[in-house]
Amino acid sequence: LNKAKLISNRKIAEHTFELSCETDSQFNFIPGQYISIKIDDKKSEIPCFRAYSISSIPDGKTFQLCIKTIENGRGSNWISALAEGSEIKFMGPMGDFTLKSPLLKNILFLAVGSGITPIKSIIESELKNGSRQNMHLIFGIRHIKGIFYKDFFKDLAKKYKNFEFTLALTQPESSDWKGKTGRTTEILKTMDIDPKNTSVYMCGLKEMIVDAKKALIEKDVPKENIFFENFN
Ligand SMILES: Cc1cc2nc3c(=O)[nH]c(=O)nc-3n(C[C@H](O)[C@H](O)[C@H](O)COP(=O)(O)OP(=O)(O)OC[C@H]3O[C@@H](n4cnc5c(N)ncnc54)[C@H](O)[C@@H]3O)c2cc1C
Repeated sequence: LNKAKLISNRKIAEHTFELSCETDSQFNFIPGQYISIKIDDKKSEIPCFRAYSISSIPDGKTFQLCIKTIENGRGSNWISALAEGSEIKFMGPMGDFTLKSPLLKNILFLAVGSGITPIKSIIESELKNGSRQNMHLIFGIRHIKGIFYKDFFKDLAKKYKNFEFTLALTQPESSDWKGKTGRTTEILKTMDIDPKNTSVYMCGLKEMIVDAKKALIEKDVPKENIFFENFN
């Protein structure tokens, strides 16, 4: 197993933690990939592993994770409670939810909740590497209290003219929310998409992916240009 030390662990929204880790040897990955962490809670003899996508861009040594704690969830609660300085053991990087070449003119990203992690890495990497594609991210979160990475993506959208950011809440629960409301799939249905020149990358729970895929196919986006990562 690979090893990494936890450099920081901070709560960034309700039930959401961002962890920064540093490996003890060279560590490379392709944006969009994940690692499989050993849940060392000593609850059973049988090793328990959970997959977590990397949210940062490769630098050869460090990586970040963004984890949503699930009620009674064994892995997510164990990891999010780890103290700085702790060691984690993991397999990977692995997974093929990575950008596929040749890139089409437009790339649409759909992310719900912690499903933003691999997509954050892909978008940040593409923009910093000078990609000229038109990229649009639709990021769905439930409540105001659950918002994270909003400023990060807003800043990217300000800096890079080829990146557009849409944040949508399904249940804002407050009249203070002036942004978009509704499910990512509903927003998708109202959008004009150039089906022959758009690839779509989406990540989140299966329900969203199934619905969004259906909506995209109805808009004539070829199946071959739809890529996804299922978190459940
Ligand atoms: C490729 C891949 C990448 C992933 N990347 C991330 C990531 O970057 N960040 C992240 O937070 N998670 C990610 N996940 C999900 C993660 O692997 C775990 O499934 C999640 O943390 C729950 O594990 P747990 O041990 O806490 O819950 P468990 O003890 O396994 O489950 C407890 C209960 O919660 C239910 N449950 C499990 N997952 C969810 C969920 N997401 N929402 C609601 N209920 C759920 C289960 O059905 C079960 O009843 C990823 C999954 C995959 C397959």
